[in-house]
Amino acid sequence: TKEFDGKTVIVTGAGSGIGAACAEQLAAAGARTVVADLNLSGAEAVVARIEAAGGMARAYAIDVSDPESVKAMVDFTLSSFGRLDGAVNNAGIGGPLKPLADYGLDEWKQVLDVNLNSVFYCMKYQIAAMLQTGGGAIVNMSSILGTNGFANASAYVATKHALVGMTKSAALEYSAKGIRVNAVGPGFIRTPLVENAMDEATLTGLAGLHPIGRLGASHEVANLTLFLLSDQASFITGSYHLVDGGYAAQ
Ligand code: NAD
Repeated sequence: TKEFDGKTVIVTGAGSGIGAACAEQLAAAGARTVVADLNLSGAEAVVARIEAAGGMARAYAIDVSDPESVKAMVDFTLSSFGRLDGAVNNAGIGGPLKPLADYGLDEWKQVLDVNLNSVFYCMKYQIAAMLQTGGGAIVNMSSILGTNGFANASAYVATKHALVGMTKSAALEYSAKGIRVNAVGPGFIRTPLVENAMDEATLTGLAGLHPIGRLGASHEVANLTLFLLSDQASFITGSYHLVDGGYAAQ
C-alpha cells in the first residue's frame, strides 16, 4: 500500500513549478489528486503525466482570487472523489518588482487577492469539507520571505508573512477537530515564477545567497510538503517549515 492510498488532495497552482511537483508526487504516492490552476492546459499536461505514470488525477480550471471559483473547486472534488483529506494552497504570483511607493493601488490589491485572500477562501471551503469526514491536513505555500524581507517585493513579502500567521491561527482553531495546518517556506526555487522575473545573472546572484550554493528544485519543496500532509507528521501543526538551502540561517 502507498502512503496516500484512499486519500483525496487538492493542489492549487498545480499546472507549473512547485505545485506540479507536489501533485505528481502525491499521485505517485496513491492520492486522488485535483490539479487546479488558472492555466487549464498546464493542469491538463500535469494530469497527462500523472496518468501516464499510473496515478489518478483530474484537472480543474480555477481562479483562486475568486471565492465562487474556489467553492466550486471544493464541490467538484467532493462530487468526483467523495471526500477531501488534504490540500496544498500553493497558487501565487510574484507581483511587480519595484519600490513600495511605486506600486499602483490595483497592483498591490492583485497580489493580496491572489496570494493571501485566496488562501482564506481555500481554507474556508476545504476545512468545511474535511470536517465532514473527520479531519485532514493543509499546507499553505509561504516562502523564506514569510520571515525575511526582500527589496522591491513588498506586496509579495506582506502576503507571505500573513500566510504564516493565518496558518498558526487556523491550526489552533482546528487541531482538536483533526485538521493540521502548516506553512512551508521555500528559498528561491528554479520555476517559471523566478525564471520569468529575473535574468540569468540575477539568478546566479540569488543562488549564491543560499549556503548550499544553488537554487532549490521543485521536487525538494514537494518532499517536505508531502511529509507534512502525511500521517508521519501527525504531531506537527501550526508551524512554519523552511526548505531554503540554509538561506535563513545567516
Ligand atoms: P509558478 O509560476 O511556476 O506556478 C504558479 C502557478 O500558479 C501557475 O501555474 C499559475 O498559473 C498559477 N496561478 C497563478 N495565479 C493563479 C490564480 N489566480 N488562480 C489559480 N492559479 C493561479 O510558480 P512557483 O514558483 O511554482 O510558485 C508556487 C508557489 O510557491 C507560489 O505561492 C510562490 O509564491 C511560492 N514560492 C515560490 C518560490 C520560488 O522561488 N519559486 C519561493 C518561495 C515560495
